[in-house]
Amino acid sequence: MSGRVAVVGAGLAGAKTVEGLRRRGYDGRIVLLGAEKERPYERPALSKGYLQGSDERDSVFVHPADWYAAHDVELREGTAVDAIDLRAGEVVDASGTRTGWDHLVLATGSEPRRLQVPGAGLDGVVHLRTLADSERLRALLTAGRRVVVVGGGWIGLEVAAAARAAGCEVSVVVRDPLPLARVLGPELAAMFADLHRENGVDLRSRTEVSAVVPAGEGAHVGSVELDDGTSIEADVVVVGIGAAPRVGLARSAGLHVEDGVVVDAHLRSSDPRVLAVGDIARAQHPFLGTHVRVEHWANALNQPATAAASIMGADEPYDRLPYFFTDQFDLGMEYVGHVGLHGYHEVVVRGDLSSRTLIAFWRRDGRLLAAMNVNVWGVVDDVQALIRSRTVIDSARLADPDVPLADLLPR
Ligand SMILES: Cc1cc2nc3c(=O)[nH]c(=O)nc-3n(C[C@H](O)[C@H](O)[C@H](O)COP(=O)(O)OP(=O)(O)OC[C@H]3O[C@@H](n4cnc5c(N)ncnc54)[C@H](O)[C@@H]3O)c2cc1C
Repeated sequence: MSGRVAVVGAGLAGAKTVEGLRRRGYDGRIVLLGAEKERPYERPALSKGYLQGSDERDSVFVHPADWYAAHDVELREGTAVDAIDLRAGEVVDASGTRTGWDHLVLATGSEPRRLQVPGAGLDGVVHLRTLADSERLRALLTAGRRVVVVGGGWIGLEVAAAARAAGCEVSVVVRDPLPLARVLGPELAAMFADLHRENGVDLRSRTEVSAVVPAGEGAHVGSVELDDGTSIEADVVVVGIGAAPRVGLARSAGLHVEDGVVVDAHLRSSDPRVLAVGDIARAQHPFLGTHVRVEHWANALNQPATAAASIMGADEPYDRLPYFFTDQFDLGMEYVGHVGLHGYHEVVVRGDLSSRTLIAFWRRDGRLLAAMNVNVWGVVDDVQALIRSRTVIDSARLADPDVPLADLLPR
């Protein structure tokens, strides 16, 4: 199939889109435009193994350097796209160069939210999104340094664990009563709070940073002030207060944008020639029956195969359940499913919260919405099957580790 595809955003989702097209035999022109100077890489290690120095730099890249030329993909690194011209079927980059397309895939990812308080621009205040951010932060995390992490989300907590591993003194400032409370609810959020406290993290909850204060008269951070009236001395401040989808291009082009680029289950936007994948895609989900936007690695990895299929005229809606993972201290976990706006009624735990070896199930009306396996492995397929079965499961059997998960499926 000949034609021209332009992909804007050379992160994981962009790279997997061009791979998906070539894998399916697309033989037209493919241009991949990325604002960063690096070729596409994956971000999870930036707050874990790469930040801690245990993962090699080479291991984060999606493809070897010669893959793009070998697959006849024009990779334009360091090229930010400034505008989409829907009428002409072109994108315009910062140098004014126009690139024509028959299909356009938007994979522009997320932008970290910036700390908006006095002093947020001081040296030593770090946001973490790129490989360069991770390298800069790694150099700052040396033994004895005082690190304040602002925000108790996944990235903030992973950085806290990495900083403790490097021998830093670490405080985490969280607006909610518990870190991760909004994602997990209080039951499981408490487990993460205990994990961090037991590993020496000073958790400051129900408070926010109101100012970052320089050390003396200098331009380097010396402390942070909290709105509960206290302050914490700091050599490094890491901001982990979430991210927002980069939808400026799509919005300016007049595409339907609502907390992400709104796409159908085939990942086509309000202009069917334009598709969106990864963090920016708010996609109709056939199983969940609603639009969801998923800011996680597995979504950026897997959605592009659907986009490639759609471009090639195949009918393959994206129907995978949201999935993500984290590693913090000696805790590894996987989470699959989607609790959604209506929330859950109860959490059933199979295993032991205190030893942090368990599977937690979020349920509504007795049906499974989502589950998280903590230091328990090889169960994700069974959990997904249980969620998809929409079966009402007896709580006692769900909580009983002696009942294989597969036995809970309807016969
Ligand atoms: C530190 C960190 C740790 C993470 N850990 C985990 C984890 O443990 N588990 C998990 O499931 N998820 C994790 N994630 C989330 C996961 O990395 C993202 O969901 C994933 O990177 C999304 O991929 P993407 O390709 O959609 O976007 P991105 O990775 O953000 O890539 C988008 C690319 O598009 C480029 N771009 C943007 N605008 C333009 C433009 N106008 N022109 C050209 N290029 C442009 C950007 O520069 C960027 O390179 C983590 C994220 C971070 C930052």
